[in-house]
Amino acid sequence: MSIQVYNVLTRQKEEFKPLNPDLVTMYVCGPTVYDYSHIGHAKTYVSFDVIVRYLRFSGYRVRYVQNITDVGHLLDTGEDRILKGARRERIEPMEVVERYTRAYFAAMDALGVTRPDISPRASAHIPEQIEMIRQLIEDGYAYEIDGSVYFSVEKFADYGKLSGRRLEEEADGARVTARDEKHHPADFALWKKAEPEHILRWPSPWGIGFPGWHIECSVMATKYLGETFDIHGGGIDNIFPHNECEIAQAEAATHQPFARYWLLTGSLTLDGVKMSKSLGNVLLIQDALKQYSPETIRYFILSSHYSNPIDFSQEAVEAAAKGLERILVPVRNIRDRLRTAPDSDGGAEFLSTLDQYRAALVGAMDDNFNAPAALGVLSQLTTDVNTLLNSGQVLGRKTFEAIDKLYRDFGGQVLGIIPDEFKQESNYEVLDGLVRMLIDMRAEARAAKDFKRSDQIRDRLAALGVQLEDSRGSTGWRLTK
Ligand SMILES: [Zn+2]
Repeated sequence: MSIQVYNVLTRQKEEFKPLNPDLVTMYVCGPTVYDYSHIGHAKTYVSFDVIVRYLRFSGYRVRYVQNITDVGHLLDTGEDRILKGARRERIEPMEVVERYTRAYFAAMDALGVTRPDISPRASAHIPEQIEMIRQLIEDGYAYEIDGSVYFSVEKFADYGKLSGRRLEEEADGARVTARDEKHHPADFALWKKAEPEHILRWPSPWGIGFPGWHIECSVMATKYLGETFDIHGGGIDNIFPHNECEIAQAEAATHQPFARYWLLTGSLTLDGVKMSKSLGNVLLIQDALKQYSPETIRYFILSSHYSNPIDFSQEAVEAAAKGLERILVPVRNIRDRLRTAPDSDGGAEFLSTLDQYRAALVGAMDDNFNAPAALGVLSQLTTDVNTLLNSGQVLGRKTFEAIDKLYRDFGGQVLGIIPDEFKQESNYEVLDGLVRMLIDMRAEARAAKDFKRSDQIRDRLAALGVQLEDSRGSTGWRLTK
């Protein structure tokens, strides 16, 4: 089997074959660092984190580049987002960038998102952006007007190939004003002349100005991954104009195909509504983490396919927490019992069942990184593992290790929903000692025919989530919560 991906560019599922068989080159559009990251960012970056994790798990080396946009991403009002943040907080634009870049990585670290290999900043690549713009003018794809440079969409025949938008529709839809200096309403800025009050500014062959937003991704992707690379990712909301412009700029400048596979994530709504600051319904990652564990948030995000939209609501996340806990209960149990398991091969017949589950998990992830299907397999596995653990059969170390390994590989390494270590594990010996003391006291009460007392001990432990299991003259225990 090989990995199949749905390629937005070709609109079909294709076998994934990297250009270089040993190295996957991957670029994902990163955040604009002018405010704290919200739960919508979590959806995008957790999704690509799992894709990178699975590619590595499958044996590929991956070079993962994700940019930091710290200049040129303008609001609809024409205001630069970074400058807006600087005005709001009365600090230097580069302080805004530093503050929110750090906050972004802190939020991603907390969610267990593996850091990209390279996180290039747009402001650190101004000479390269100027060079690509110069090349585009020289080749006739761009033109300068009064200190600004625009890309001429009519010159690039493939414009619209990713989003499926046709230029004629854009022309009809775009508002043309008398002051518009562009040749065509759909032409977009590569370089903008800086007005005197615009403090993010650099010298260029066209005067003092700043780059347009889209050019940074074309420049930094090709600089670090080559003119043609394997995977380009991002959120579906940026397919047009941003991703479309990235392709146009890069392919016009290099005369080579840009990204070979386009993988885009569906968007996230909050209680059925698109998050927006003006509506006041923005859930920051740092606030979500006060209520839910990182693993719960990941489980929730991964419970729908990366390409689908998802709605964040309290009920949905609580359902995710329950689904996750159901998996974690036997995992904790297994790790605890591994410490004292006999070296016998008890339960070894379960190993072939585990092989089938491993194949099913690989099959799910090979099929366009289908994490919800993988969660379904883990859930089914959990049902079987619970049956085995409750069977009263004496299980050997090898069986426990094999089950633990499967959960660690897919629940841990690939999906990131099962921690490497549980915090409670350090207290296990104390807990085990206390429960065993109560088991002894219950046995003494039963020996003295004080059944009221022995049932009381059993029931109160059960209420605490400790289930006693009597079998063949001895009593064991397991956690049910
Ligand atoms: Zn981008």
